Amino acid sequence: MLGSGGLPVEPNPCRVTSGSDPSLHHAIAIDGPAASGKSTLAKRLAGKLGLIMVNSGAMYRAITWKTLREGIDPHDAAGVVAMLDRISIRCGDDGIGSTITIDGVDPGEQLRGEEVNANVSAVAAIPGVRRKLIGLQRGYLDRSSIVMEGRDIGSVVFPETPFKIYVDAAEHVRAARRGDEGQVDSIARRDALDSARATAPLVVAPGAVVLDTTDLDIDAAVDAAVAILRRQGFPVPD
Ligand code: C5P
Repeated sequence: MLGSGGLPVEPNPCRVTSGSDPSLHHAIAIDGPAASGKSTLAKRLAGKLGLIMVNSGAMYRAITWKTLREGIDPHDAAGVVAMLDRISIRCGDDGIGSTITIDGVDPGEQLRGEEVNANVSAVAAIPGVRRKLIGLQRGYLDRSSIVMEGRDIGSVVFPETPFKIYVDAAEHVRAARRGDEGQVDSIARRDALDSARATAPLVVAPGAVVLDTTDLDIDAAVDAAVAILRRQGFPVPD
């Protein structure tokens, strides 16, 4: 099967039958740079709309965590892709948000550690890694309606969805938000790598509406996102 952008997509091992008709499921794509507030916004939107929130960044982080644990150089594309063939990746949800285990282990808070922050963009630039994870990401829509956040959700994973928001914020505000979370994370470096890579770079997807959260608190950002989704035709309940 050929995905958008010519990426062949592997069959999804996490596919389950939910009982509802997948053709009625909606995907809301929330993309944007690091620490733009897209995770918090996606969580709040999912809660408000009764959808599952899927954190695609956690999937790239989990592969990076495993790569480092195995002692594989994150820049060794062949080594990382060979590792993917040996490991078992299980993605699911807890009824609210996405979950992931690798070889039965939930990496938990280690996904947001300094080492993963420093290496995730290199691993995410490997086409074979993206191919694998895009198949898993698309599988979520078979099960339920979702809000998925990431970098290429509106451009590559679900290019056909009409519901797309690109969340942005001034760099100093984003850096401060990450600092407030107590994280060591070079967001400018990650953004540069994520925007410059050849495969599925960070872009404003065709049809996406840009939401600048520089001067917005989370409640105002949720209200603005709901207004955008209504304009895009999403059936938001009153
Ligand atoms: O969203 P988060 O900051 O957790 O993402 C971590 C990294 O995963 C990003 O910097 C990017 O390299 C990668 N990523 C990606 N495509 C996505 C989501 C995340 O390349 N859809």
